[in-house]
Amino acid sequence: MAKKKAAAKSAKMVYYFGKTKTEGKGVSKAILGGKGMNLAEMTKIGLPVPPGFTITTEVCDMYYKGGQKLPKTLSNDVAKCIATLEKELKKKFGDDKNPLLVSVRSGAAVSMPGMMNTILNLGLTDTSVVGLANATNNERFAYDAYRRLINMFGDVVMGMDHHSFEEAFSKIKLKYGVSQDTDVPAQGMIELCEAYKAVYKKETGEDFPQDPLKQLELSIEAVFKSWNTSRAVRYREVENIRGLLGTAVNVQSMVYGNMGDDSGTGVAFTRNPSNGQNKFYGEFLINAQGEDVVAGIRTPQPVAEMSKWNRAVYKQLLEIKDTLESHYKDVQDIEFTIEKGDLFMLQTRTGKRTGAAAVKIACDMVKEGLIDEPTALSRIPANDLTQLLLPSFDAAAKGSATVLTRGLPASPGAAVGALAFTAEEAVLRTQAGEKVLLVRKETSPEDIDGMHSAAGILTSTGGMTSHAAVVARGWGRCCVAGAGEIEIDAKAKKIKVGGKTYGPKDILSLDGSSGEVMLGEVATSEPKLSGDFAKIMKWADEYRTLGIRTNADTPADSKRARDFGAEGIGLCRTEHMFFEDERIGIMREMILAEEEDTRRKALKRLLPFQRKDFVGIFTAMKGLPVTVRLLDPPLHEFLPHDSKAQAEIAKEIGVTAAKVSSRVAQLHESNPMLGHRGCRLSVTYPEILEMQVTAIVQAAIECKKKRIDAQAEIMIPLVGTAAELKLLREKAEETIAKVKADKKFDGKLGILIGTMIEIPRAALTADEVAEYAEFFSFGTNDLTQMTFGYSRDDINTFLPDYLSKEILPVDPFQSLDASGVGQLVEMGVTKGRSTRKKLKVGICGEHGGDPASIDFCHRVGLDYVSCSPFRVPIARLAAAQAAIRNGGKKKK
Ligand code: ADP
Ligand code: MG
Ligand code: MG
Repeated sequence: MAKKKAAAKSAKMVYYFGKTKTEGKGVSKAILGGKGMNLAEMTKIGLPVPPGFTITTEVCDMYYKGGQKLPKTLSNDVAKCIATLEKELKKKFGDDKNPLLVSVRSGAAVSMPGMMNTILNLGLTDTSVVGLANATNNERFAYDAYRRLINMFGDVVMGMDHHSFEEAFSKIKLKYGVSQDTDVPAQGMIELCEAYKAVYKKETGEDFPQDPLKQLELSIEAVFKSWNTSRAVRYREVENIRGLLGTAVNVQSMVYGNMGDDSGTGVAFTRNPSNGQNKFYGEFLINAQGEDVVAGIRTPQPVAEMSKWNRAVYKQLLEIKDTLESHYKDVQDIEFTIEKGDLFMLQTRTGKRTGAAAVKIACDMVKEGLIDEPTALSRIPANDLTQLLLPSFDAAAKGSATVLTRGLPASPGAAVGALAFTAEEAVLRTQAGEKVLLVRKETSPEDIDGMHSAAGILTSTGGMTSHAAVVARGWGRCCVAGAGEIEIDAKAKKIKVGGKTYGPKDILSLDGSSGEVMLGEVATSEPKLSGDFAKIMKWADEYRTLGIRTNADTPADSKRARDFGAEGIGLCRTEHMFFEDERIGIMREMILAEEEDTRRKALKRLLPFQRKDFVGIFTAMKGLPVTVRLLDPPLHEFLPHDSKAQAEIAKEIGVTAAKVSSRVAQLHESNPMLGHRGCRLSVTYPEILEMQVTAIVQAAIECKKKRIDAQAEIMIPLVGTAAELKLLREKAEETIAKVKADKKFDGKLGILIGTMIEIPRAALTADEVAEYAEFFSFGTNDLTQMTFGYSRDDINTFLPDYLSKEILPVDPFQSLDASGVGQLVEMGVTKGRSTRKKLKVGICGEHGGDPASIDFCHRVGLDYVSCSPFRVPIARLAAAQAAIRNGGKKKK
C-alpha cells in the first residue's frame, strides 16, 4: 500500500503532444483519458492537431484525495509545457503582441458527451486582447474571443448563471439592430466585453482575472470539479460507468473558427451513425467557434455542402476520414476547425451508433477487409440488438397518418406518447405509468433523466449532432431533432405547429428514421430480421458453443422465440397457465379443498386445460426440447385476500365464507418465498404432481400420434436435498408408466426428469442430487436471493444505496454475481457432472439473457442459457462474443 502511494506521487503528471515531442507512448486511456490519448495519437500519425498537453486522470484522483487541492508540483510541470508551446508556436502566453491562447478541455477514459465543460480562448486579458487584435488584424474577432472567454470562465469556473450574460448580449444586439451574434460589429464586441466584465464583477465580487496562469490554474481545477457535478455523476450512473480515477485535463493551443467567412467549425462521423451507411456524415458552421454547433444555437450545414464553400478543405477532410478509419479500424466521431482555410483536427473517438448501424457497419467493414468476423461480432454491443427487435410504424397506418411537421431523423425508432415539457415532468409522468415524449427547444445535459425516461425526444432546434441527437442515439432512444416549424412554449406547456396548438394531454407519434412528427397514436408493426442482421446471427451461431433456449409459457411466445433462433424451451412455467378465467376458479377450489378426494376432483378438471397447453407448446417447438417446471409458487398466491372475493368463491364452490377465510388464513405464511412452495408442494400434495405429469405425458403421446416429436423434460423446482428429488422422481416415473399403460402406448417418449438448482444446499450437494437428475437448470433468481439473503421483491428499498456506495457493482439480480453466486453455479456443475458425466446443465434465471452473465455461463461450461424470447438474438450474439473472448474458433 505504502509503495503504491509513493509510486503514484512520483508518476508523470503531464504529457505533451506536438511537433516538439509527443509523449505518452504506451500510456493507457485510463490515465490520459480518451480525448488526450487520441489527440496524441492523431499527432503521431501526422494529422494537423494544434499542440498541447494532457494532465492525467491520476492528478484528478490526487486532487480529490488531497481534499480538493491541486498537487504542489503541478504548476511547475504546467509552466514547462506552456514554455514548450510558446517556443513551438512562437507566441507568448498573455503577450501584448502575439498571445498564445489555449483551450482547457475535460476528457475521461469513457466519453461523456457534453457532461463536462470546456473553456476556450484562455489567456486573453485586457492587454493580450489588443495583442490578438493586432496580430490578426481583426479586432472584431479578438473581442468576440474575449467575450466568449469571460462568459465560459464565469459559467464554468465561477458557476455564474449565463442568463445575465445573455441579457447583456441582447442589449448590444438591440443597440446595433442585429439579430445574429455574427452580425455584431467590432465596436459592439468591445462594448460587450466591457459589459461582460461588469456582469462578472457584479456577480462574483471580483475582477475578471488578468493573469493567464491564474486563469489556467482555476480552469484546471474547474474541470476536475466538473467530474463530480450531479449531472456527471448521474450520467455515469445511468450509463453504468464505474471505477474510473476521474477526468484528464487537456490544455490545447487555440485555432480559430471565428475569424470570418473563411473559417468555421464542425463535427462529423466517418459513417452514418443512425443507419450505418458508408457516407461521410456531419455538419459545420461558418464563422463559429467550439460549442456553437453542438449547442444547437444556429442550424449548421451538412458537410456534403462543404465542397461548395472550400473544395480543398473538404477533400482534405475526406482523406483524413479514411486515414482515421484505417488507423482505428472503426467509425470515428470527429471534431474539427478551419482557421482561414487551414484545417485542424480537435478530437476523434469511436463513434456511438444505433444497434442497426452497428450491425451494418460491422458487416460492411468485414466486406471491405478492414476487420475480420470475430472482431465484427465482438464489436456489436449485444444489448443494442434490442433496438432492431423493436417495432416500427406500420406502413399502412403511417400512410394514413397526419404528418404535422418533419424534423431531422436524429435517432431511429417509433415513439408514441403524450407531450412532456420539462425533464422533470417526463420523469414523473413516466413513473406514473404514462408514455411521454420529451419536447424541448434543445436539450442540455441537465435533461438527461427526462430523456432517459421518455419514450421519445423531440426538439425544435439543433442538428444531427446536437446534444439530444447524440445522447438519444447512444441509448437507442427515438429522437426527432430540429423540427423548426414547431414553436414551443414550455412555460404554458404547449406547442404550436401548422396553426394548431397541442398540450400535455395530446398524443403524437415520432418516426426517428424519417423525422416525421405525426398526430395521434400511429400503429406499430413487428420488425423484419433479414440481411445484415441475419448475417450477424449466422456468424454468431458459427462461433458460439452455448445453446440458446427461451423461457416461454404460451405457444405464441414459443413461436416467436423459435423465429428468433431459440433451440428449445429452458423454462416453461406452469403457474401462469392457471390464472386464466375459467381455470383460476377450479384452481382455487383445488387449493381450498381440505380432503385429498375433493382436491383430486378439481385437479381432474384442470387436466384437460393443462394438456391442451402442452400440446400447443410441443407443436410450436416442433421437436425441440421443452423443459416444463412443475407448480412452483406458494398456493396462497392463487387465493383472493379481500372478504368480498372470498365470499364469492365460497358461493361458487358451495361452502361458507368463514370456511374460505379460515383456509386462506391457514395457508398464510410469514415468509412465503422460503415457505411451502416448489417441490414441497408435491411432497405434501403428490396428486398435483400426478396431474401435471399426466398432462405432460398425455400431450406428448397425442403429439407423437400426430407425428410431432414432443421432447418433454420434467423439471422439479426448489430441490434442496437428494431425498426430495428421489421421492418425486419415483412418483413421476410411476405416473409416466401409468399413463403409457392407460393409453396403450409402448413407443419411446424419451422424457427426461431433472431439477432446478436454486437453493444453495442443492449446489453444495449437487453430486448427490445428480443421482436422480438427468439435467440441472440453475434458477439464479432464487439462488441469488438465497445466497445474498436479499428478497428480490424488496431489493429496491436498499439497492440504490448499495450501488451509489459501490458496495455492489451492479444489481445482482440483473447480472450474475460471478464471485459469490457464481461459485455455487460452478460447484453445482462440477459436482453434478462428477456423478453423471452427461448431465445437461443450463440456466433459466433472468441472467440467461444478460451478456456478462452469459460470458460466465460459457466459462463454467454450461450447455445452454435460457432467456425471454426477445433476448434470444442478444443471447446468441453474447454467447459468440463469450466464445471469441475465451479463445474460441469458428466451428467447422
Ligand atoms: P466536449 O467534450 O464537450 O466535446 P471539447 O473539449 O471537445 O468538449 O470542446 C468542445 C469544442 O470546443 C470542440 O469541439 C472544439 O470545437 C472547441 N475547441 C476545443 N479546443 C479547441 C481549440 N484548441 N481550438 C479551437 N477550438 C477548440
Ligand atoms: Mg468534443
Ligand atoms: Mg425459483
